[in-house]
Amino acid sequence: MTEPYRILHSVFGHHSFRAYQEEAVNAILAHKDLMMILPTGAGKSLCYQLPSLVMDGMSVVISPLLALMHDQITALSTFGIKASMISSMQSPQEIQETMHACRKGELKLLYVAPERLKGESFFKLFTNPSYQFFVIDEAHCVSEWGHEFREDYRQLFRLKLYFPQTPIAAFTATATKIVEHDILHQLSLSNPLIIRAKVERDNLTIKADYRNANGREQLLTFLSAFEHESGIIYTLSRKETESLAQFLNTRKILARAYHAGLPTEEKNETFRAFLNDEIQVVVATIAFGMGIDKSNIRFVVHMSLPKTIENYYQEIGRSGRDGLPSSTLLLFSNSDIVEHKRRIGEQPASEYQKVAYEKLDAMAKYASSQVCRHQHIASYFDDTILTCKTRCDNCIDGEKQSIDISHEALKLLS
Ligand code: ADP
Ligand code: MG
Ligand code: ZN
Repeated sequence: MTEPYRILHSVFGHHSFRAYQEEAVNAILAHKDLMMILPTGAGKSLCYQLPSLVMDGMSVVISPLLALMHDQITALSTFGIKASMISSMQSPQEIQETMHACRKGELKLLYVAPERLKGESFFKLFTNPSYQFFVIDEAHCVSEWGHEFREDYRQLFRLKLYFPQTPIAAFTATATKIVEHDILHQLSLSNPLIIRAKVERDNLTIKADYRNANGREQLLTFLSAFEHESGIIYTLSRKETESLAQFLNTRKILARAYHAGLPTEEKNETFRAFLNDEIQVVVATIAFGMGIDKSNIRFVVHMSLPKTIENYYQEIGRSGRDGLPSSTLLLFSNSDIVEHKRRIGEQPASEYQKVAYEKLDAMAKYASSQVCRHQHIASYFDDTILTCKTRCDNCIDGEKQSIDISHEALKLLS
């Protein structure tokens, strides 16, 4: 048995690699730059954690989410892997200790928050670098064309300046071709292996519909097919998460609200109750998302139009991780577009606002599109697939709609 397989079994306890993982591991072991675009939950972390164990020395992971980093380090320590983090959450003394451990070669993985990359001080911390490779997690944050651009990520261009010999592995769940090229460019990846998973999720049924005056009734109709099954309902505003959760409770559907304005304890408790199937539904803003690793989510509903297809695709992708049939419903109305435009700013002045308007426009077009939903999403991410035929409203009702339209046309002609 080769070393990676041995570690896959003995350290991580997995029987086999998932799709694309082995290729990624081998690329890192061969000291190649790597760019991997794989859906959330597909198992990207293993792709760098495993090679870090095969290789001597330490590797550095840049990751934007403190909570996620913390979870990863805890998980790694249960596998007996020495990892630590540097972020605004640690005291200067803790950071000193971590740096000391680094220099003594006691760590396998060092997680670093992007805000630490400000200025050159971070890069100078490592005067005697001996890293195996750098990992950029959530790499789309480096691109202004992405949906979660972070100013601090811009500093990552320095990696190849300071450490030209050290390979970089970039990971993201969603990247259009434009974002992909931007990431390659920003990080100056040299001759990287690019692994891009197929976009299609063939266990999902995707539907979209205009939200009428009583959107909640439309929601209840949809939910009636999912008694006692887990799901997430996304709303635009914090207030709406709370009032909708209350409404569902009056209809005997166990639901709780989740948004960034709630106390951390309450959020953690809701998260825990949801993971343990003690509640059926979380009604949430987009704050509920990254890092959710619950396999049996049977449905995801959007009560309003998401602001980008990237967001939408990531959110619906939280359903059906176990591969079993799952459903998604998007309810939208023109007023959602007005609200998004208000949030972005009425007059698109900056580059950022222009991109936001374009992405919103793409999302709105998708919502009212007649094309196969799977195909539409795939083509947005530059993937080409056949129509799903049976797993989206446009394919299922396609005939009905064309009849409706010709019916209208007949009326107009007469
Ligand atoms: P991503 O970063 O792509 O969103 P994660 O790395 O967080 O995904 O992994 C998601 C889940 O998949 C984790 O619970 C992880 O333990 C599991 N996983 C990863 N690789 C495998 C594998 N080869 N076999 C079984 N489970 C795996
Ligand atoms: Mg991840
Ligand atoms: Zn279809």
